[in-house]
Amino acid sequence: MQPPVRRERFPALFPGEPAFRWTQAEQALFQEGKNGWADITTFSSSMRETLTKELPWMSVVSDRVVTNRAGDTHKAVLRTADGLRFETVLMKNKRGQWTICVSSQVGCAMRCTFCATGAMGLTRSLTSDEIVDQYRFWKTYLVEKVLPGRISNVVFMGMGEPMANYENVKAAIRTWLKHTDLGPVRITVSTVGVLWQLDKLLEDKDWPPVRIAISLHSANQKRREEIIPSTTPDFLTHLADWARRYGDRQGNRRHHVTYEYTLINGVNDSEEHAKELASYIRKTGAAKINVIPLNPVPGKPFTAAAQRRVDRFKDIVSSFGLDITQRRSMGEDIAAACGQLALETK
Ligand code: SF4
Repeated sequence: MQPPVRRERFPALFPGEPAFRWTQAEQALFQEGKNGWADITTFSSSMRETLTKELPWMSVVSDRVVTNRAGDTHKAVLRTADGLRFETVLMKNKRGQWTICVSSQVGCAMRCTFCATGAMGLTRSLTSDEIVDQYRFWKTYLVEKVLPGRISNVVFMGMGEPMANYENVKAAIRTWLKHTDLGPVRITVSTVGVLWQLDKLLEDKDWPPVRIAISLHSANQKRREEIIPSTTPDFLTHLADWARRYGDRQGNRRHHVTYEYTLINGVNDSEEHAKELASYIRKTGAAKINVIPLNPVPGKPFTAAAQRRVDRFKDIVSSFGLDITQRRSMGEDIAAACGQLALETK
């Protein structure tokens, strides 16, 4: 069972208070210099006392933080009120600011064969507070460690499948958009492709206009099922249809779909695979492709594609007139890179 969340507990604690009191309380969570409910001086002392006693200011606590050799990636193991641990990552980005990679679940049910989190199975989805507080945790960390720069981007590429925790992910994003300087195009929700939830998103007027990335990993149905056993029948046909509808409704230069493609040596990195991918993406509408060589996980039989194979793969895809980039792998030495989260949690 998930712990109760602040926006539900607050009105239950103060049934006679007007709704704007909760907005004030939520605003305070993001204000610099405020370290607890006791710092909200616009509230009466009895309100502050009740809040301090009944409602945790932070929904997660830090077990430990590790920093990589280069000093540009930090990984935290956070603990929930019910004692579960999950990981979140802070990375220096190209603009000299910080990107945080947040988790949406403890573990994951999607079983991607190359991923450490997938091997854990799913324990439970995180609450909206536990997602929101990953941002607050790293914001405080930057201040405490006197690290220059601000959090400019959030990516849902940590533990879990965000579309399998749709409502809490949506609530967390809406909270950040309301109380931080993050704009919607600075937030990316990366999903393995839970099609019925992606459909829901197209109809949902409250879904914020954030960026969507699809973890594709293969443009061949059978091979994708081998890499991601939770792939649904006829997935690629349905996804192409969804992507075209997304393009019609929400797509523009800033809201193209990004396809993530992890290059695994001998599995999906050949010239034939590159051509297959390019032909598929051309059918889906405006898109970008982002490749990343696999970050190896101990005990898994997969290795990363060599850089010359990555370059060849990129050349072939771009010869079809498609936009393809290679993502930088960060934090591999502290198991903070994509697909590696969970190694510390265990
Ligand atoms: S890659 Fe993402 S969706 Fe797949 S098992 Fe890992 S955490 Fe889950």
